[in-house]
Amino acid sequence: MLIVMRLDASRKEIDAVKAKISSFGFTPHEIPGVQRVAIGITGNKGKVDAENFLPLPGVIDVIAVSKPFKLVSREFKPEATVIDIGGARFGGNEINVIAGPCSVESRQQILEIAEIVKSAGARFLRGGAFKPRTSPYSFQGLKLEGLEYLKEAAVTTGLKVVTEVKDTETLSLVGEHTDVFQIGARNMYNFSLLERVGEFNKPVLLKRGLSATIEELLMAAEYILSHGNYNVILCERGIRTFETYTRNTLDLNAVPVIKKLSHLPVIVDPSHGTGAWDLVTPLALAAIAAGADGLMVEVHNHPEQAISDGFQSLKPETFLQLMKKAKEIAPVAGRTL
Ligand code: PEP
Ligand code: MN
Repeated sequence: MLIVMRLDASRKEIDAVKAKISSFGFTPHEIPGVQRVAIGITGNKGKVDAENFLPLPGVIDVIAVSKPFKLVSREFKPEATVIDIGGARFGGNEINVIAGPCSVESRQQILEIAEIVKSAGARFLRGGAFKPRTSPYSFQGLKLEGLEYLKEAAVTTGLKVVTEVKDTETLSLVGEHTDVFQIGARNMYNFSLLERVGEFNKPVLLKRGLSATIEELLMAAEYILSHGNYNVILCERGIRTFETYTRNTLDLNAVPVIKKLSHLPVIVDPSHGTGAWDLVTPLALAAIAAGADGLMVEVHNHPEQAISDGFQSLKPETFLQLMKKAKEIAPVAGRTL
């Protein structure tokens, strides 16, 4: 249920509507917009009677929301959400690029790669320090040491850090070292982790689960928003299909579908989406053409020696070429890079 306030509704009128929602034991969510303020209601089990709210001063309309997801939906908030991370804006006109290795492997490795991706035009450095691996015998990340190297690389280059948070136990520690929490595909259904990042005042990059539908991805984002954190960037990273030639099938349909259903920014990860370095550039360009708000690309200074995902990591010169082409495509798609 969504209560739409008049354009000239006063603060007192808005607060009175919120108090009335709370008096029923429901949660009000004020959604400021360019056109008008709306107040979303969550926490109700059944239908909320519009008659309780329509007579209140300042209320212009009460709309039932047809989708199972509410706070993330365009019905709740028609305007696109723009998430400003230290001056880099996701969801507006800009395309932002997050680049770096799959895993932080050493201090020298991440410092070198940070310089490379920075000079190519990326504004965000990625790299896993806590790695949720399919096999318990695979490299699990440098953990705290990796976080410290990432932070040092960010300070040296001025890049912002995106790194994965694997569990609730390490959430605060990761939070001290990153600008954006990445929730990986394997954790998209980890509802306690989603709830906890929802209580944190830090942007979240939420990756689509390996076999998750678009609706399930949006419901996972709904967990985060419903706990108070509205700064969520969605990431399409490929799904499992019957096709085995590529590691995953990059579902570019998801970009315009999500744009239609949700106001949240959406980016694309063509590295995990294809699993092959030579497919990354064409899919990255296609993602921009499809309307993505950004890219996440794995880049390594020595892919053949990478501890994880070397086969899908771009060499520095290939990443530079990708960025050059992306800068050409972006204006055609009405965007800046
Ligand atoms: C990653 O970004 O390195 C990663 C593990 O991605 P995903 O969770 O999409 O598999
Ligand atoms: Mn990876």
